[in-house]
Amino acid sequence: MPFSEILGQSTAIDTLKRALQLGKVHHAYRFEGPDGVGKEKAAFALAQCLVCTEPREKLACGNCSACRRVVTLSEQPPQVPKHPDVVLLERGLYPAAVLGSDSAETNTINLPQIKKLVQSRVGYPPHEGRALVFIIRRADELNANAANALLKTLEEPPEKTHFILLTHRPHRLLDTIRSRTLAVRFAQLSDENLGIILDRLGANRSVIPLSAGSAAQAIAMSDEQRLAAKQEFVSALSMSLEAPDLASALAHIDVKGNDRLELRDQLGWFALHLADMARDLVVEDPGVAERDARRYSLVLSTMAELERNANPALAMEALVTRLRRV
Ligand SMILES: [Zn+2]
Repeated sequence: MPFSEILGQSTAIDTLKRALQLGKVHHAYRFEGPDGVGKEKAAFALAQCLVCTEPREKLACGNCSACRRVVTLSEQPPQVPKHPDVVLLERGLYPAAVLGSDSAETNTINLPQIKKLVQSRVGYPPHEGRALVFIIRRADELNANAANALLKTLEEPPEKTHFILLTHRPHRLLDTIRSRTLAVRFAQLSDENLGIILDRLGANRSVIPLSAGSAAQAIAMSDEQRLAAKQEFVSALSMSLEAPDLASALAHIDVKGNDRLELRDQLGWFALHLADMARDLVVEDPGVAERDARRYSLVLSTMAELERNANPALAMEALVTRLRRV
């Protein structure tokens, strides 16, 4: 994944290329911006540039064994780069036993992960000599102990060692972590670039308005294999709006097992369904079309609330209540 394959992030990518070409790559970057816009791809591309054995003008060749192993993940979990000097960290990526911990990481990246993967490595030179690169997915999920342990390393950066913290919620990082990392900002993708990405996958462009500039979200919503789940959700929610009272309406909806972002995607499908209905009825029955359009806005605002960490069950109950009043 060379830099040239990352769409719509020329400011961020130019900053990184310039640093590489001037030999001034910072030891700790913070890649900020919405989910699914290329932060992780850029982190892997930067890691390739740092470990490539046949660089061209200080940029990765993309073809040498080192470059290929950066982006080839192990087949068995934990799925991490095959290159020993590119270390991936993420909440729950490693089984507790591997980290020497007795509890699983359910909500946060805990201290044992930093101890095992970072602190035990940073005192030693890279296995293959060029650089040691740590990529931390959703770095805002570091708990206080883990963040403080990481901070010690960031304050005394060893030679040839680089950290790339990825986050869509930079405000949740400790101020001390923020001040020790250099921000590189990634923007929402334009509709045009989302269209290019969806076209490459042969996916439907109709999800673009609901994708909040995120390719990951657009791809998830346009995934054909999830069609059955989509139809089920849309029809359950439609039935709940027709139900005689709120209690029976809520009985149609079961989101207890749902992940917040999964529910957001499902609501995206319902929003598309409402938009289709409103379009179809605008001439024939403008009153109903108007109602569906108002419902569409309510669904979008609940999607935004879920993005900001709302509780799925409560958000859904509030949404059904509001939709029924429209
Ligand atoms: Zn290479």
